[in-house]
Amino acid sequence: MQELNLYLATNLKKFRKNKGWSLDRTAKETGVSKAMLGQIERQESSPTVAKLWQIATGLQVSLSSLIAPPTPDTQSNQLRNVDHLRHQATPEDMVVATLFHFDASVGFEVFEITFLDDFERISEAHETGVIEHIIVIEGALELFINQQWVSLSQGQAIKFAADTEHGYRNTSGQAVKFHDIIHYPKK
Ligand code: MN
Repeated sequence: MQELNLYLATNLKKFRKNKGWSLDRTAKETGVSKAMLGQIERQESSPTVAKLWQIATGLQVSLSSLIAPPTPDTQSNQLRNVDHLRHQATPEDMVVATLFHFDASVGFEVFEITFLDDFERISEAHETGVIEHIIVIEGALELFINQQWVSLSQGQAIKFAADTEHGYRNTSGQAVKFHDIIHYPKK
């Protein structure tokens, strides 16, 4: 948790300074208050995943660029062990492991996500052209796509346009674990 807040603080500062944006400008571009952005940069706040997405979208960066270590190991042949990568990313009952950090040459990032308990999140549209690929590893997941809930069980997978409102829900009473491969459009 503390590790993650440190990454987030460092990344936010880095992207903001790269763009030459003040906290005021960043608040305007992301829709997240200046007070909260300041708290994040001082590692005093653990934002929800909704806020993380708002910040990533406003800064036009991938989600993993915001929450993963600022200097990730991008070596393509390095073995990853998901057990070492899981973090409770937010105050919610949600655990995120960044298996593959965003790589601009391929345009995607790979997460393993766990919803520990009952969980529901409706997400605002991501940046235009963003596509998510969900593969359920364990348990059962419901996704809100095209204004309706779709049920997926272990082994099932779906691809959807994430540049429109969409959602995630676990009502199974047990943890659900899935991969989310998020593809971003070329800039
Ligand atoms: Mn999404």
